[in-house]
Amino acid sequence: MSATGPTLQERALGAYLGLAIGDALGATVEFLTATEIRQQYGELRDIVGGGWLKLKPGQVTDDTQMSLAMGAALLESGGWDLRNIACHWLAWLKSKPIDVGNTCRRGLVRFGRDGSLEAPFSDGDAGNGALMRNLPAILFAFRDAELLERCSIEQAHVTHHHPFSDAATLGVARMAALLLRGGHWRDNLRALRGLAKELVETHRQFRFEPYPKRATAYVVDTAQTILHGFFSTDSFESCLVTTVNQGGDADTTGAIAGMLAGAYYGVGAIPARWLKKLDAGVRREIERQVPALLALGERG
Ligand code: MN
Ligand code: MN
Repeated sequence: MSATGPTLQERALGAYLGLAIGDALGATVEFLTATEIRQQYGELRDIVGGGWLKLKPGQVTDDTQMSLAMGAALLESGGWDLRNIACHWLAWLKSKPIDVGNTCRRGLVRFGRDGSLEAPFSDGDAGNGALMRNLPAILFAFRDAELLERCSIEQAHVTHHHPFSDAATLGVARMAALLLRGGHWRDNLRALRGLAKELVETHRQFRFEPYPKRATAYVVDTAQTILHGFFSTDSFESCLVTTVNQGGDADTTGAIAGMLAGAYYGVGAIPARWLKKLDAGVRREIERQVPALLALGERG
């Protein structure tokens, strides 16, 4: 690694592998409370599988699978084609995945029925499903703020149509995009703080300092948990351990925190013991998608 930090490839790969690793790590303790995790694991620091989904160690869930489906669609289309992304998600849903959120399912069933690409506004759509799967759009569009915003919101609205979901999806997309664009580490941290502050100033609900210690799938709780995990730690490993040990929607908070931390610290900072455990097929597909998505975005 050079003095300016990890390269673009290292940051992008770190983000995508970080997402999958956070998912695989956190899934073990999804729906447990922080106290229950302490009683059962002390502190969860290893990818051991299990959990309510009875996963194999290194197996991932919907967070990673929906991201991979979007990435595959983007590469197949050779650019942004929302309909093809929705088609890939629907095919994934029909493949009987191990887990799928209610709002995601409802939105994809609607798309399958009437072909519409936008869910109507709903107060019940404030889950984290749109936020958790946005990385391929970010890798494709991070160079262009307007494109990033359009892609992030369009993919979100296929299933989730709520201002808090939009705000968190966009806020985290801007943070990841800033990291992918490069720059000096210390300046980046300051700029990330600025983006987090912007999110909190637009919607006070997102205030994460002091951390309210709720880690549910409600997108406000999720965003607070990942921002707390990222800003209160100083390594990829400590960020993910802090995040998933809050419990709740731990695979999803782990995935999003892993994405941010991977983009910040780079793939070289991911512990080898976690990389080794990650499902080999998932790792191969991520390693295929990352350079291809970066190249696709570069062509514009
Ligand atoms: Mn999941
Ligand atoms: Mn989850």
